[in-house]
Amino acid sequence: MNRISDLPAIEGGALQRKDFLVFGRPQIEEEEIEEVVDSLRSKWIGTGPKVTRFENDVKKYLGCKYAVALNSCTAGLHLSLIVAGIKEGDEVITTPMTFAATANVIEHVRAKPVFADIELSSMNIDPKEILKKITKKTKAIMPVHMAGWPCRMDEIMEIAKKYNLVVIEDAAHAFGAEYKGKKIGTIGDLTCFSFYATKNLTTGEGGMVTTSNKKYSDLIKIYALHGMSQDAWKRYSDPIFKHYLITAPGYKYNMMDIQAAIGMHQLGRFDENQKKREKIWELYNKAFSDLPITTPSDPGPDIKHARHLYTILVDPNKVYVDRERILRALRAENIGVGVHFISLHLHPYYKDKYNLKRGDFPNAEFISDRTVSIPFSAELSNSDVDDVIKAVRKVILYYSEKA
Ligand SMILES: *Cc1c(COP(=O)(O)O)cnc(C)c1O
Repeated sequence: MNRISDLPAIEGGALQRKDFLVFGRPQIEEEEIEEVVDSLRSKWIGTGPKVTRFENDVKKYLGCKYAVALNSCTAGLHLSLIVAGIKEGDEVITTPMTFAATANVIEHVRAKPVFADIELSSMNIDPKEILKKITKKTKAIMPVHMAGWPCRMDEIMEIAKKYNLVVIEDAAHAFGAEYKGKKIGTIGDLTCFSFYATKNLTTGEGGMVTTSNKKYSDLIKIYALHGMSQDAWKRYSDPIFKHYLITAPGYKYNMMDIQAAIGMHQLGRFDENQKKREKIWELYNKAFSDLPITTPSDPGPDIKHARHLYTILVDPNKVYVDRERILRALRAENIGVGVHFISLHLHPYYKDKYNLKRGDFPNAEFISDRTVSIPFSAELSNSDVDDVIKAVRKVILYYSEKA
């Protein structure tokens, strides 16, 4: 069956899979389903005891001092900037190799995102490039632990200390990652995790901010719920009626018990699922080792990679079609794919507003032009993994052997 007419390469070739393998399908088990049903039956569906339990579970797992559950990582990044006092006229240094939310929240507080190029091996912001971008207006650094590989936090924290900057980590990819024996979530001033559907640990939509600063934690709780004084979180279960008082024009960023119900059990299986991811990672590495593509680098012994994304780089000198063609060919094989990410300086909003152009961030562009994320999740069965391997080999070999 010829699924995509503009792909003569696979015309007549049999499809690997009958059904479409969705990219980043979450693993949901009976325990989550029962817990959500329990919340629904209890009629307590909003922010309540399960959110508190989930926060405490995460705190215990990461060994951090404070953890505030929110309805997204984006909300966490936004509130982190607010409580750190970042405002109009300030500059925040971040990576262009990230999801738009990282820079969008800097715009939300009317500060300026200043991009610093990445290192090719880790795809993470390069501390040397951060140094080049520091001005009198710089107030914060927002590193992103790309694909689950922690940034060079020693160097970043040292720069922050020297120039008196706040470090807000976008750890959307990095739940469970470790840097030199320290869990991500215990290093920077504020760390934001995502529990979006495709992430290592999901609540459907959701996020968490961790910090060791009580003031930050208290303020984030207040800002996440309309700016109500902190007691508001307990107000509904309190036997005594209490008025709430608005202390700031806050937002609506709180997590619901229905979300926490999912997260609690996701966390319970997290270590076991990471082992599955590790196994699939090794299978992919082995299966692709002879292909003319670049597989993920090894971060070395100091680092525990969170194994969020498995990305290959398609080298245009070795494969005679461009990356877009590879993406379409894999889709035609019924394999879901992703691109993480198109460098932010190439998106119209950032390009136009800050006068950025191709050539400004060569390493981010290198990744941006070549990267392909393939299905990678604890939900994948052995035969799913097999299908992905066969499809990637078929497509890459086809387009390289004709060269
Ligand atoms: C997913 C993601 C986010 C946003 O997370 P949400 O929970 O969807 O708000 C932020 N940064 C990066 C790098 C991401 O991949």
